[in-house]
Amino acid sequence: MTLKFDESPPAPAARGDDGSLKELLSTRGIPRRDFLKYCSFLAGVLALPPISYAQRIANALAVSPRLPILWLNGQDCNGNIESFLRASNPTPSELILDKLSINYVELLMSPAGSAAEKSRADTIAAGGYVAVVEGAIPTSANGAYCCVGGRAFTDIVKEVAGGALATIAVGTCAFQGGLPAAKGGVTGAVGVRQLLGAGPTVIALPGCPMNVENLTATIVHYLTFGQWPDADSLGRPFFGYGEEIHETCPRLKYFESGRFVRAWGDKGHQQGWCLRYMGCQGPDTDANCPVVKFNSHTSSPTEVGAVCLACVRPRFWDVPGGFFKHRPLDD
Ligand code: SF4
Repeated sequence: MTLKFDESPPAPAARGDDGSLKELLSTRGIPRRDFLKYCSFLAGVLALPPISYAQRIANALAVSPRLPILWLNGQDCNGNIESFLRASNPTPSELILDKLSINYVELLMSPAGSAAEKSRADTIAAGGYVAVVEGAIPTSANGAYCCVGGRAFTDIVKEVAGGALATIAVGTCAFQGGLPAAKGGVTGAVGVRQLLGAGPTVIALPGCPMNVENLTATIVHYLTFGQWPDADSLGRPFFGYGEEIHETCPRLKYFESGRFVRAWGDKGHQQGWCLRYMGCQGPDTDANCPVVKFNSHTSSPTEVGAVCLACVRPRFWDVPGGFFKHRPLDD
């Protein structure tokens, strides 16, 4: 797999100067060093060399115009917007969130009813916005299982995505239907790409929930380079979903030396041994969880002693035998 990056000079809209950056940071009271450190981190998330790209990202953020966002919620637990609200590095990431004008988000916006609908319609009419879809989209019964303002969610997603610069499907439910699409589901739940087909640009950031740093990095990539990150055939950006969890897992050395946890809480579990026998799917799952981590870069599932459930993969809920089925150690 080859990663491709734009090496050309910044586009005019993304060109910044040190004066703009200083002004931006001083109005937010953010030390320049902290901000550049965060930009280095974002460059790392994007699999770009931090030394070459941190300043370029910082300059682009200093001058880029605010990007309007329409955030739609379908069938899900709202775990992705929870993740979004708990972005790490509060001050520098707040600055990046300042670059977003979230014109419609049902869970947070103060307007309600027709005023909320107007905000969404006005943004669509103005164009130049990004759609974010969280949750699965129910298609059975003509979409009656999820209606907003008297309209089927299917229609709203098509309308909003149809005029967007791109649509970002956050979380596994928006990716391929997630839990609502698991066996036994009756709502005909699908993900964004399944609903929209091949036409519009759809970037998928699966995960249960998604890692907010991947959302931030996707938007920063667009603001810096004027284009969306390269992605695989399912729409998942290579920077976030291009390497096996297994390859970067802190327990890899135990896998390689044949030391496996055999029961929860046993001596091997207490000592951080490999969780493959306990059902870990890290060797079959591509995601940057062990590198980017969660909770302010504190840890990741396998690091804390839980198996990887492969939540970034399609239909991960329907694992034959269940999540914790013992797995053979030679596959
Ligand atoms: Fe691989 Fe999972 Fe073992 Fe980590 S815990 S080394 S991801 S099998």
